[in-house]
Amino acid sequence: MAEAIYDSSNIFAKILRGEIPSHRVYEDDAVIVFMDVMPQGQGHTLVVPKAPSRNLLDADPAVLGPLFVHVQKVARAVKKAFDADGVTVVQFNEPASGQTVFHLHVHVIPRFDGIPLKPHSGQMEKPEVLAENAGKIRMALAS
Ligand code: AMP
Repeated sequence: MAEAIYDSSNIFAKILRGEIPSHRVYEDDAVIVFMDVMPQGQGHTLVVPKAPSRNLLDADPAVLGPLFVHVQKVARAVKKAFDADGVTVVQFNEPASGQTVFHLHVHVIPRFDGIPLKPHSGQMEKPEVLAENAGKIRMALAS
């Protein structure tokens, strides 16, 4: 099979270019962090490096260290913001693994004892809930 290449028309590239909105939690030169619109659990957040790559397989290794420093900060913040018992960090590569958006991103999902994850790319959350949750995570990141 021919190697898949990065396509800048993907939805996260559009968010990065400001062409479509997102419930933004954090942004700097390296990453953007925003709420997943179809959360698998309360506070499901995405950490997205600005550097273009489809996924982990074609990413510049130099991107990965800084990316995971941000993933750790966001994991700590969501745990605090939602008083979670744990945090799931997950990342998919190519359709066979479940990847649906082809710009590298890491899912950070607060977890609560006894509460299973909802389906991946399931139901849309209400914008007001996403906005409120983004605010809680912003506050936790700042504290
Ligand atoms: P993946 O399977 O890892 O590629 O997951 C892509 C994720 O992006 C899914 O969890 C979707 O719910 C989420 N998603 C899709 N479109 C948007 C969007 N416009 N804003 C935020 N999250 C999105």
